[in-house]
Amino acid sequence: MMKNQWKTKLLEFMKGRYGTDDLNGTLLALAVLITIIGIVFNLGWLSYISLGLLIYINYRSLSKDTQKHAAENRAYLNKTVVPRRMIKAFVLSLKDKEHSYHLCPGCHTICRVPKGKGQIDVHCPGCGKTFSAKS
Ligand SMILES: [Zn+2]
Repeated sequence: MMKNQWKTKLLEFMKGRYGTDDLNGTLLALAVLITIIGIVFNLGWLSYISLGLLIYINYRSLSKDTQKHAAENRAYLNKTVVPRRMIKAFVLSLKDKEHSYHLCPGCHTICRVPKGKGQIDVHCPGCGKTFSAKS
């Protein structure tokens, strides 16, 4: 009973608030990274930057201006599409033993090619461009 009351109160509190998104996830990862660097290199002042990021993340999550924060998130996703796809292609290449993954230089679509074929021409299914890649 008590547990459900808290859950109901929390849901009521969060109603109409923005919540979390990809930008908050990236900012949280950045805060954790800065904290680890601060601990490893004994730079205590870095914790103020981490704290600032955590306050900003909570401000965004609890804000009721959902359109503003959704626009921020869209801008973040648009600006980081290439590095995010590069990371995804790298991770896919590590997981898949039979294929390697490359970004099309024209449209940034991830293209899968068989491994072990040397330097090959890759035909992008997204834009039709052909580019050279090591498989
Ligand atoms: Zn393409």
